[in-house]
Amino acid sequence: NKENEYIEELNKRTQEYDPKLQRATFFKDLPLCRNVLKGLSASAFVKLTAIQRESIPVSLQGHDVLAAAKTGSGKTLAFLVPVLEKLYRERWTEFDGLGALIISPTRELAMQIYEVLVKVGSQCSFSAGLVIGGKDVKYESERISKINILIGTPGRILQHLDQAVGLNASNLQMLVLDEADRCLDMGFKKTLDAIVGNLPPMRQTLLFSATQSASLADLARLSLTDYKNIGTLETG
Ligand code: ADP
Ligand code: MG
Repeated sequence: NKENEYIEELNKRTQEYDPKLQRATFFKDLPLCRNVLKGLSASAFVKLTAIQRESIPVSLQGHDVLAAAKTGSGKTLAFLVPVLEKLYRERWTEFDGLGALIISPTRELAMQIYEVLVKVGSQCSFSAGLVIGGKDVKYESERISKINILIGTPGRILQHLDQAVGLNASNLQMLVLDEADRCLDMGFKKTLDAIVGNLPPMRQTLLFSATQSASLADLARLSLTDYKNIGTLETG
């Protein structure tokens, strides 16, 4: 069928993409599906930022990634684009349940990610949800089973994973830890370890941070497998 051929073609272009030879300037230079490209241009995202250019091809190729780039450098799209592409290429539907989990240290940041996802994913058919506390767990649990892309704070996500019903992560394709350095600063190390321990090992993990540190490297060793280190931070 036509769509399978299209996805095969995208995957082929992705595997053949050589970041050293093909230094993409625009999103449209990357092997991205029509719906994601439409969502990006409808949101006026045209040109890649440095971290997007460096990390998106590697993430699309299926590697685990530890990406460090300063605040304001465009890390949100650097992980949302691969999340949308992954689920599209897996032909994810509402019946497949949770496909991607995005963890953010604060409610405000989680809400910002959600807003960008709704815009950029407007042409995709996935459901997205936020779990950030405030609402009661039972109310959230009833809706959570139909969500494909879930964004939440560490404590709340662990709370849902610990519930007998509701959040089923057994199909999870992708885990994103945003602001990982800040999660550690805020004392979420144990919570993150517990979340990671609850997830299937055959997943891709993307870890984003505004700084590099020894504790970040520890977290990376625990949650990532054979990861690529990508950074646009200046080193002295
Ligand atoms: P970070 O997470 O690295 O702090 P954000 O993802 O929040 O950065 O992006 C910072 C700002 O840059 C946001 O206002 C966002 O809309 C904008 N932005 C991100 N990527 C692009 C892009 N490719 N083109 C134009 N603006 C962008
Ligand atoms: Mg950010």
